[in-house]
Amino acid sequence: MAFNKIKRNPTRPVQVGAIQIGGGAPIAVQSMAATRTQDIDATVRQVELIQAAGADLVRIAVDSKADVRALSEVRDRTRPTGANLSVDLQESYRLITDVAPFVDKVRYNPGHLHHHEKDKPVEAKVAFIAEQAVHHDVALRVGVNCGSVDPVLKEKFGKDDVGAMVESALQHTRILDDLGFTRYVVSMKDSDWRKVVEGNRRFAIDRPEIPLHLGVTEAGMPPDGIIKTRVAFEQLISEGIGDTIRVSLTLPFDDKGQEITVGREILDDIANGRFRSVPASLDHGLNIISCPSCSRVENEKFIELAQDVKEMSTYAADYDVTIAVMGCRVNGPGETDDADIGMWCGPLGVNLKRGEELVGHFPYDTVLNETKRLLDELIEDKTPAAAPAGVED
Ligand code: SF4
Repeated sequence: MAFNKIKRNPTRPVQVGAIQIGGGAPIAVQSMAATRTQDIDATVRQVELIQAAGADLVRIAVDSKADVRALSEVRDRTRPTGANLSVDLQESYRLITDVAPFVDKVRYNPGHLHHHEKDKPVEAKVAFIAEQAVHHDVALRVGVNCGSVDPVLKEKFGKDDVGAMVESALQHTRILDDLGFTRYVVSMKDSDWRKVVEGNRRFAIDRPEIPLHLGVTEAGMPPDGIIKTRVAFEQLISEGIGDTIRVSLTLPFDDKGQEITVGREILDDIANGRFRSVPASLDHGLNIISCPSCSRVENEKFIELAQDVKEMSTYAADYDVTIAVMGCRVNGPGETDDADIGMWCGPLGVNLKRGEELVGHFPYDTVLNETKRLLDELIEDKTPAAAPAGVED
């Protein structure tokens, strides 16, 4: 793929398994297995499916020792396909010792380094992660999420959550650079594409040499999720920002390869100057965000629920309301805080929120009615968003 029409930032090269991210390499496209990691056959099939769609890198969720054992077998069985693998550390940074032998890249979230060993300085935890990365010859991703930013920065920046996200990323680049560790990429994600654009722009002004992983997290279902992601990528990549991408879509497991094909289509369009229009009304009306699902989903009814919510709420299409549907208890509680109505799924039922307040825990077969009741209440006092004045080319 030729990006000869776009002048890209001169980022430093980061080797991740068999691929290079940054340093002028083609923009790498990645996705994540959504199957339960311990279901080894299903996870191997998922990696193969994503690989077959043209992935450069596949991420796998690991939360426990049992997941680590499964990861080791997934690594062995997918090696012949040439799959490059990565994992997230989530809240347990020490897990890197167990997972790094089986992957090419490890992502840590700076906002999650405060949950354990509270008296230990963050610098010492990052030093441990970097030391393990060197020892096991893996790259790192500093993966900051606007919804789970470091609590100290959240407090300091108040409403400027993009500022907190960027500062968190910059802080960690300084820590890693001071340690002499430069084999890392950075990501700054949110479900709001505007925050993704703003955050990455701000960061790239300060540190244009650091490779960036772009993504709109919990973008939702196609086609809406694709549109939000496309808008963010068009803005950033056309400015030379971005070295690897992930399109996060809520899809049935068997369709996960779409995250790759859609990502490649967007890149190809940008490379060839085929930009989509950006209507002035893009940010108005009903906004449904839903996570792409991963092995942490404890009940597959989540995907059906996300689709049912979308269908049920069509009558509110003209109202400025955000509904968030998340698949698990790990990220669900925090990632729904900014939505007007939030849902995060457990094994037997769904936790329903209005803003940051928990309304209750409901079985899967009744939560839709409760959600509609909340939605009715919310739009009762609202005026529908203005119709678009026109559409720009
Ligand atoms: S919200 Fe939970 S289930 Fe959904 S992608 Fe994130 S970690 Fe996975």
